[in-house]
Amino acid sequence: MPVVRVAVIGSGLAGLTAAHLLQKATARGPTGEDVRFEVHLYEKSQRLGLSSASVVFKDAQGRQRLIDTPMRSIQGGYYKRTFALYRYLGVELIRHNYTYSFSSLSRSASNIAWRTRFIYSGSNGLSLRPVGIPRACNTITSLARYLALVISVALCYILLACFSIYHLLRGHLSDPRHPISHQSLEDWQRSSYVSTHFVNLIVLPMFACVCTCTRDQLLHHPIAEILEYIALTFGASHYLVKNGVKQVAIRLCAPLTPDQIHLNADVINLISTEDDQVVLTLADGSSHTFDHLILATQANQAASLLSLLAKSLDASGASAESLHAEHERVDALRLFKYTPTVVINHQDASVMPCDHDQRDLNIALSEHLLDSHLSRSDDKGTLGCMSFEHVMATHALDPSLTGDDAVYQTTNPILPISRVISTAPFERVVLTKQSKAVLSCFVPGREASRHFQGQRHVWFCGSWAAEGIPLLEGCVVSAERTVLAILQSQDPSICPSKAHLF
Ligand SMILES: Cc1cc2nc3c(=O)[nH]c(=O)nc-3n(C[C@H](O)[C@H](O)[C@H](O)COP(=O)(O)OP(=O)(O)OC[C@H]3O[C@@H](n4cnc5c(N)ncnc54)[C@H](O)[C@@H]3O)c2cc1C
Repeated sequence: MPVVRVAVIGSGLAGLTAAHLLQKATARGPTGEDVRFEVHLYEKSQRLGLSSASVVFKDAQGRQRLIDTPMRSIQGGYYKRTFALYRYLGVELIRHNYTYSFSSLSRSASNIAWRTRFIYSGSNGLSLRPVGIPRACNTITSLARYLALVISVALCYILLACFSIYHLLRGHLSDPRHPISHQSLEDWQRSSYVSTHFVNLIVLPMFACVCTCTRDQLLHHPIAEILEYIALTFGASHYLVKNGVKQVAIRLCAPLTPDQIHLNADVINLISTEDDQVVLTLADGSSHTFDHLILATQANQAASLLSLLAKSLDASGASAESLHAEHERVDALRLFKYTPTVVINHQDASVMPCDHDQRDLNIALSEHLLDSHLSRSDDKGTLGCMSFEHVMATHALDPSLTGDDAVYQTTNPILPISRVISTAPFERVVLTKQSKAVLSCFVPGREASRHFQGQRHVWFCGSWAAEGIPLLEGCVVSAERTVLAILQSQDPSICPSKAHLF
């Protein structure tokens, strides 16, 4: 059987899924005979990307505990293809709903004062357990004020949920002709009935955590994707992979032999040959030739690699037209913006509110951000790893570990942390109106002004390359679509927008 050689660069969930599906696929080649694919996976880190930052921690009793880093949680309603992939792989999930506390931090020269603003004890799903009462609400006046806040938050949430569901059902959120699909959260807030205080207190901190970005970046975030997330996850539970996402990585790699998986393999150059093969060069100086290349890296990394490919075209005297097409693709990739983020696993309770107010997920941000009226913040001051523009989220990892034994995972620490178990820096893509506008050019089968997939046999997948908030679902959706498009490039009778591979 003829063999089509494919390189996948990047072993995050997108790269692993694409490598798995393509290695298992067969297609009808141009001469009518079946072809199979030989996939090589290249990852610049020492470990597979999906689980490279996960750590094993020995607790005080000497038991080993695996901490997925970051959390890698998925939620019912939004992650249809991720659930389908995990089912297909036989990976076991555990339901893991969260209770939340929302706090503000005020700084003086000598100390940091925590103020718990709101506690949601009801978990996700449709549980109607009451909200919690912060410890500081210990007088009739403060209790009455808090009760008024609870009622206003509940009303705003109902209004927001109804609004989101209405627009989702009417198809407005995915309709480029509808004005809402061009609005940012900031644009939308100016004209919506939902109170600014509710947006500042709940929506901005919550979605700054979902998108791992600053509050200001979230103000620029397209609103349609946020409303879609709210509508689709309404009443749905969160899930984690039992025994960690390494299970997923191992099962996705199973169809590949060890000599097809290349770790510590930093791809530093790409060249396109005259017959549209792609030659990649690794940092160790070796070169490898493939029929197709899938860039399952971050979009900014893909842009850097493709600009090298464009340079090689220029040097080989390619036509102005093909050079222009390549530069257009690089420019489009550069519209996807990344923000640095840090995740620290630790045993330092000082980044938590007081015991009484602690919940599963403890969100804290500078008081200055909470009380500003949706204005931009320029609070670049720092005490922890990240500046006070960020929203800090601390997850109490295992409720059975308490006191000094408790283990926490903090994303974007704005306060200093001691008793650190591990520190992992990440880059997170943040959706903007500009990247949303160009996204359809990377979605096979979608109506678009230009199509960037498959040009010179170079393809893309990743959380950034699918509709919606860039999350694990985007990795699975884009990987499956890219594999279908490659299969279709061999066998045009396959329709990439209709079929599923698992
Ligand atoms: C703090 C944080 C928390 C998150 N929490 C969640 C969550 O709870 N749920 C959820 O759904 N999503 C979450 N996300 C988002 C999700 O983790 C990402 O969207 C997803 O992991 C992206 O996967 P990917 O395969 O697209 O790319 P990546 O995971 O970024 O993989 C790209 C890989 O390409 C490799 N690479 C890049 N350049 C090269 C090169 N030149 N040569 C070789 N290899 C290269 C990189 O080393 C990397 O491993 C979170 C993200 C962060 C940062």
